[in-house]
Amino acid sequence: MYEFEYQKPASLDDVTRLLGDEDAKLVAGGMTLIPTLKMRLAKPTQLVDLGAIPALKGISEDGDAVVIGAMTRHADVNRSDIVKRAIPALAAMAGMIGDPAVRNRGTIGGSIANNDPAADYPAAVVALNATVRTNKREIAADQFFTGMFETALQSGEIVTAVRFPKVAQANYQKFRNPASRYAIVGVFVAKTPAGVRVAVTGAGPSVFRVPEMEAALAKSFTPDAIKDIAINDDGLNSDIHASAEYRAHLVNVMARRAVQACA
Ligand SMILES: Cc1cc2nc3c(=O)[nH]c(=O)nc-3n(C[C@H](O)[C@H](O)[C@H](O)COP(=O)(O)OP(=O)(O)OC[C@H]3O[C@@H](n4cnc5c(N)ncnc54)[C@H](O)[C@@H]3O)c2cc1C
Repeated sequence: MYEFEYQKPASLDDVTRLLGDEDAKLVAGGMTLIPTLKMRLAKPTQLVDLGAIPALKGISEDGDAVVIGAMTRHADVNRSDIVKRAIPALAAMAGMIGDPAVRNRGTIGGSIANNDPAADYPAAVVALNATVRTNKREIAADQFFTGMFETALQSGEIVTAVRFPKVAQANYQKFRNPASRYAIVGVFVAKTPAGVRVAVTGAGPSVFRVPEMEAALAKSFTPDAIKDIAINDDGLNSDIHASAEYRAHLVNVMARRAVQACA
């Protein structure tokens, strides 16, 4: 039996107060959390639904950046005229997540807080050099994702928004699991004001960058520039879907396709 109280507060202050109970759990789209509860892998005493806080939803422009509220659904990012114009690769990536039901429930905040090793958003957040805003601070993308299902979020910390610099030249290529549609390997390449960034999801325990590819692409932004850069398969994921060696191979293939698509 489930034994929790369901709360749907209307303000972030009330959420923060409820999270004073360390066995309370936030619920956003519920696409990951509800299956986790069904499998009895989590047993919160309170479920705190973020769905009634308008300030957490929506997409806006802020100078040279786009700010996406934590409770914004994947389908809204995919359809947003602002995102399509300012960061088309991000809109396209959101449209590749799961299926229509998942995209109409799942949120950017839930996805990055969960940090599934095969999730798509972590690659976008890192490659685009985004900043994660919480109720307590701002966290740079490179510091946010710390390990498999782990992030820099502390107890009681809530993702409120993600700020993405506008980047026109970027692309995400995903070799998807045909059943779940999660990434077996996904590579997001972006030419940002801070240089070329290459972020890989699905291949390792958590999203990672490929500095050798970034350096080569900074000199020559062509698929040929990275064709001979081999990824070491030590520590990469290996399961019934793909071996570590195959995933390492896919990183190079997906990265070259992403660079080609940018052109
Ligand atoms: C069939 C299926 C296919 C999927 N395919 C893909 C895919 O192809 N690619 C992909 O990237 N994802 C995929 N997903 C995952 C999907 O994107 C989910 O939306 C995502 O993992 C979780 O988002 P959510 O809003 O549903 O969060 P929830 O399930 O509600 O929450 C997930 C976790 O994040 C915490 N949390 C939620 N919001 C916040 C917040 N604002 N601040 C701090 N913590 C928070 C919760 O407490 C919980 O621990 C798939 C899911 C399913 C069920």
